[in-house]
Amino acid sequence: MAVIFLVGARAAGKTTVGMELARLLDCPFTDTDQHLRQSLGRSVAEVVAAEGWPGFRARESAALREVTGWPRSGHLVVATGGGMVLAPENRRFMRERGTVFYLAAPVEALARRLARDPLAAQRPSLTGLDMIGEVRQVLAERRPLYEEAAHHILDATAPPAKICAAALRLLGMPPAKA
Ligand code: ADP
Ligand code: MG
Repeated sequence: MAVIFLVGARAAGKTTVGMELARLLDCPFTDTDQHLRQSLGRSVAEVVAAEGWPGFRARESAALREVTGWPRSGHLVVATGGGMVLAPENRRFMRERGTVFYLAAPVEALARRLARDPLAAQRPSLTGLDMIGEVRQVLAERRPLYEEAAHHILDATAPPAKICAAALRLLGMPPAKA
């Protein structure tokens, strides 16, 4: 029984890889951003507009504890919001509660993925900079936090199947499914 946390920047592939990893392990997958949207009935942008980033961060921290608090027998894969690692207590919580993987990708790869994603444009800007400028600045601030939170770092530019295989090897878990 293990909780597997995925941390990393926006568009690192936390949702994509998390869903595939959960499929391979035949276990539930949860996404803290999606959990927030469902439990509040509002988008991230709406929460930020109404309560500011500090309000959103507090709700995000609560969501992390809620999704891992459900009674469970098997494994659980949790994809976290890009800013989850900002709070030291979240970094500590994840490290103590399970195994944390940092999906690491270079700025250019992240910006390329975001530029392709029509939903990304709807997310509130953190810096007021253009896409690549924002990705560069946010990653410069958060990379040390992702690294501090993580037990393992994965190359997020590899194909999702390869990333999952690497994660399972590091976990010492055989896939339950092909
Ligand atoms: P996150 O949940 O970290 O914000 P997503 O899983 O939503 O990231 O992925 C963002 C975009 O990048 C999506 O369009 C997804 O298809 C693509 N993507 C994710 N992981 C990979 C990968 N390993 N290789 C290529 N594209 C990827
Ligand atoms: Mg996601």
